[in-house]
Amino acid sequence: MSVEEEVLRIHKKLSKMTSSGGETNQAQALDLLKVLQGLKIDLEILTNTRIGMAVNELRKCSKDEEVINLSKKLIKNWKKLLATPDSPNTKPSNGNSSSSSIKPPSKEEKSKESKKSSSQSSSYSSSSSVTDVVRIKCREMLAGAIKCDDYPEGCASAEDLAEELEEAIFAEFKNTDMRYKNRVRSRISNLKDSKNVELRGNFIRGAIPATRLAKMTPEEMASDEMKKLREKFVKESINDAQLATVQGTKTEMLKCGKCKKKNCTYNQLQTRSADEPMTTFVLCNNCGNRWKFC
Ligand SMILES: [Zn+2]
Repeated sequence: MSVEEEVLRIHKKLSKMTSSGGETNQAQALDLLKVLQGLKIDLEILTNTRIGMAVNELRKCSKDEEVINLSKKLIKNWKKLLATPDSPNTKPSNGNSSSSSIKPPSKEEKSKESKKSSSQSSSYSSSSSVTDVVRIKCREMLAGAIKCDDYPEGCASAEDLAEELEEAIFAEFKNTDMRYKNRVRSRISNLKDSKNVELRGNFIRGAIPATRLAKMTPEEMASDEMKKLREKFVKESINDAQLATVQGTKTEMLKCGKCKKKNCTYNQLQTRSADEPMTTFVLCNNCGNRWKFC
């Protein structure tokens, strides 16, 4: 059986569990997750099988802490594949994709909370586990620039976004020389710019992907450009809202914070009085994640 077939088989079982409502067999679920953990799942398999959605569903309806944590970890690792599609897949494979190859959980599971800070996040660390102090420092500074008080719900965390952005910048220079540092520094100052809150907002909400922000010129990052993007988004939605108020409007301008896909539908609603800004409700068609922003 190929890895993809194996993943599909697990997908079916997980879907059956989550759709049967509540009565999830946690032990069986955990076993399936451990099988997934041992498989060498690449981006292609991830996309073809949509296993991420099934695991995410399981995570949502499970009440077992172990199941939830392992689900989260798997999804997190897969997200990294999405962020760096051309990176070499260095995950270990046990070379045996049969269902009998259920491996016992590794010690790493217990230390997952400290994964972010520890530089040796063991066998599961993808290519984005960085040990270079300059790169780590840059990620921290970028995350600091992305964070804000009114951080929108449902979006990727500032740390994840910073990681993606730094990764994209590093991918261009392949070292941390002056050009790399200047690039990071200019992103930070623009993201922090109080006159340019659109840039940060558009980046957090996925309207500007990290790969694009990594290469933008100062002119492109300037407020006017960002306002236009936001205006265009708002205008487009107003036009469409008159036609499709129920189904909402499909857009590729927004990125889901959970699954990172750009396959969202949004609706704009006047929630309070008419002179207050409209609230935009977004639904990810891929994983069902919902969030809103004004
Ligand atoms: Zn999603």
